[in-house]
Amino acid sequence: TRTLRDRRVLVAGAGVSGRSAAEALLAAGAEVTVTDASEERLAALDSVRTGGGRLLPGLLEPPAGTDLVVTSPGWRPGTPLLAAAATAGIEIIGEVELAWWLDRARPEPADWLAVTGTNGKTTTVTMLESVLRAAGLDVVACGNVGLPVVDAVRAGHRVLAVELSSFQLHWSRSLAAQAGVVLNLADDHLDWHGTLDAYGAAKAKVYAGNVVAVHNADDEWSTRLSTGAGRPVSFTLGAPEPGQLGIAGGTLLDRAFADDPAGDVLADVADVHPGGPHNLANALAAAALARAHGVPADAVARGLRAFEPGAHRSVVVAETRGTTWVDDSKATNPHAADAALRAHERVVWIAGGLLKGADVDELVARNAGRLAAVVLIGRDRAAFAEALARHAPHVPVEQVSAGDDAGMSQAVTRAAAHAAPGTAVLLAPAAASMDMFTDYAHRGRAFADAVRALPATAPTTG
Ligand code: ADP
Repeated sequence: TRTLRDRRVLVAGAGVSGRSAAEALLAAGAEVTVTDASEERLAALDSVRTGGGRLLPGLLEPPAGTDLVVTSPGWRPGTPLLAAAATAGIEIIGEVELAWWLDRARPEPADWLAVTGTNGKTTTVTMLESVLRAAGLDVVACGNVGLPVVDAVRAGHRVLAVELSSFQLHWSRSLAAQAGVVLNLADDHLDWHGTLDAYGAAKAKVYAGNVVAVHNADDEWSTRLSTGAGRPVSFTLGAPEPGQLGIAGGTLLDRAFADDPAGDVLADVADVHPGGPHNLANALAAAALARAHGVPADAVARGLRAFEPGAHRSVVVAETRGTTWVDDSKATNPHAADAALRAHERVVWIAGGLLKGADVDELVARNAGRLAAVVLIGRDRAAFAEALARHAPHVPVEQVSAGDDAGMSQAVTRAAAHAAPGTAVLLAPAAASMDMFTDYAHRGRAFADAVRALPATAPTTG
């Protein structure tokens, strides 16, 4: 393991993971400098200053003598500071790699179960956490889900259910999980990675050195990226073959880790909530990782039943005269929106925002038949409007140009005019939110508030 004592480390980015990295580095005896473009964010790192760290705003090159840079996952390699560090031959890692080093230096390192993919990561790691807890294990969900992995390691947990973004994987190097999965892969973040191949290459690092490599047999990219890594195990929404987890006769069945060649029954389809094919895939992925860790079959059902779904992921916010209002603000790319749309037969769809280089043509073409009407919001509305004109010329389309909560309120009012009994009004924007909102959670709250403000809306939840 690598020693951090007396190393001169620059932490790039004073966000949540930067703070945790800086604190851990100080505790390990490193000399720490933290930089960030925002003086305000830096000023919030009191614990780092009192621990002896330096806070220097806006650095464009590493201070003399720096021998390691720990970067925030969102920073691109071409950022002036990181480019300067690379030119100077300084090692650059992310907070997840740092967590791996710290963990390997412990007398008894944790077991890591790693999840990546374009969509379903948070749902899968939190399902996995719930299943492992049901089995009585000391586990925590960490990484991209919120809790920095460094903090999870320092807290001494035995098992880590780690959600990894493509950015975090890009900045990782020696990570070797007990088991890992790429859930699926579709265009997203291509503005950061450049090409789908580069994005896939980052995701594939989740398989490096794994004992068990889990892939989604129904997803071409997941299958391709896992080839040649670890013991292959896969899952499918169909009936499982030997070596697979799958679904048969209304149950989730394991024919990969079971002693019985007919397979072990893990859970009922009804134990998985919210429902829908994409969530069944997430549950099977979580089950595969849990089984790779040796969890007994019955813990899977108990864990899935106890699982609490996350906010803004297909949450019903109200029902009015036969119309269901659904917040899937977390559908921040076309692939996620496709999953959200396919859970409903007849939809008034609220979509739009920042497309991040993604294409919506196929999404619109595949779902044209279920659209009762569409209300477009956000900056990249035109791309949606053009695809709708091509593939769904009969569907009424409205556009709202106002920003923030007022824009959402207008969108909801327009959507209400098209809502009929048996339709769902679905916020599944297929795009990022930052053109109008702080983040997807803000967008989801604005939607729910606007729905509750409609005349004659009977709220069903919170
Ligand atoms: P992530 O953490 O990868 O962003 P989440 O679990 O938060 O994924 O789910 C985000 C959104 O992606 C959901 O609201 C839903 O619209 C969609 N989604 C969830 N799971 C899947 C899946 N397995 N395949 C496709 N889309 C999915």
